[in-house]
Amino acid sequence: MSTNSYDVIIIGGGIAGLAIAYHVGRHNASVLLLEADTLGSGTSGACAGRAQISEGPRGKHMDVVLEGLAKLEGLEEELGYEFEWRRLGNLILIEHDHHWQSWSDQITYLKDRGVPADILDPADLIAIEPLLKIDRFRGAAWCLEGHLNPFKFMRAYANAARQQGADLRQHTPVTGFTLKGGRIVAVQTPQGSFSAQTVVVTAGAWTRKLLASAGLHLPIQFTHAEAVISEPLPPILNNHIGLADFYETIHNAARAVSIGLAQQQSGALLITEAVAQLPDIHRANSHWGISDIARDLLALFPKLADVRLIRAWAAPSPFLLDEQPAIGWLAGADNCFVATCFHLTITTIPVLSERMAALILQERADPYLSAFSPARFQREVAAD
Ligand SMILES: Cc1cc2nc3c(=O)[nH]c(=O)nc-3n(C[C@H](O)[C@H](O)[C@H](O)COP(=O)(O)OP(=O)(O)OC[C@H]3O[C@@H](n4cnc5c(N)ncnc54)[C@H](O)[C@@H]3O)c2cc1C
Repeated sequence: MSTNSYDVIIIGGGIAGLAIAYHVGRHNASVLLLEADTLGSGTSGACAGRAQISEGPRGKHMDVVLEGLAKLEGLEEELGYEFEWRRLGNLILIEHDHHWQSWSDQITYLKDRGVPADILDPADLIAIEPLLKIDRFRGAAWCLEGHLNPFKFMRAYANAARQQGADLRQHTPVTGFTLKGGRIVAVQTPQGSFSAQTVVVTAGAWTRKLLASAGLHLPIQFTHAEAVISEPLPPILNNHIGLADFYETIHNAARAVSIGLAQQQSGALLITEAVAQLPDIHRANSHWGISDIARDLLALFPKLADVRLIRAWAAPSPFLLDEQPAIGWLAGADNCFVATCFHLTITTIPVLSERMAALILQERADPYLSAFSPARFQREVAAD
């Protein structure tokens, strides 16, 4: 094997690529991960760190969510690195009757699955979040979730992947592919070309453009999402707090704001998000996003008026039209595996990355993952 040849090349060093690199490495496969910028510089670096359960879908998807939560409990020890893991409640503020009904049903479901969860009335709300202005809310749904520091989470996977022998290269963008006989035989970068038995694309919102350079089409869309963080404060919040109409608000609007916030271990408030539909990916903040976030935050927490916001950022949030991930082999490039558009990423990736590694190394079939095959969307198009 030449020094430029590997068992597996992974393109993209976000949460997905790093977790897959770790698990593939554990199978004694040689791994090269190519990251265009720095590890975590994509959407993963914009993440709020919530290990979501509340919105967990019913049925076997929920099995994966709950298995992921259980894995997260022991993952700092397994990876040998602390990422500020803690259990944290999620409070979903409910204004309208139809949300009251749907969240009551979801809380009943979560409880049946053994998740600590409850429906709270306004008096309960004041008791657990005294700073919250509750007058427009009927109450809230509450569920015990998890929370972590996403940068440390990625560092944990990166360190552990390196210990398994993975070669993680930053500032190494993939600029193109050489296809022969329906397989990728070389991956090109400004630092040279590399080859592998299998090429795994975990390039998030950038996946569509990258695949198009090889004449392959996966219709990934994205929203432009902005978030802010405050100066560190003494403890003032006891839960992650969000609104029941989050998805209704952000879906299909040209631009919208829906507040979600949690106090980090540093004391800072991380506040999401202003969302816009844009034709192209860029990372700049808008002229309206931060001020609209501040306005909506103060409607919920008037007492935070003097808090200083110290940093803002923006990132693309990729999705497919059916809002399910793309996980699996691509038609048109037999040795190319795609893994992107995850939902409840932090909670599910500890489980999915292990299962994806087994699939990538063709050790076993996985009927659960096959439901997410990119073939459901794919058609080949001429290279741009
Ligand atoms: C504001 C915000 C808050 C969020 N909060 C949460 C949350 O609390 N909990 C949760 O579970 N999820 C959250 N998410 C979603 C979560 O962040 C994403 O699902 C996750 O980060 C996706 O990781 P990824 O590895 O698939 O993609 P990315 O992190 O985007 O990684 C893709 C990588 O590929 C690289 N790349 C692109 N093109 C190339 C190329 N040609 N060559 C080499 N490398 C390339 C990019 O630089 C990037 O680093 C949030 C998202 C946003 C925007």
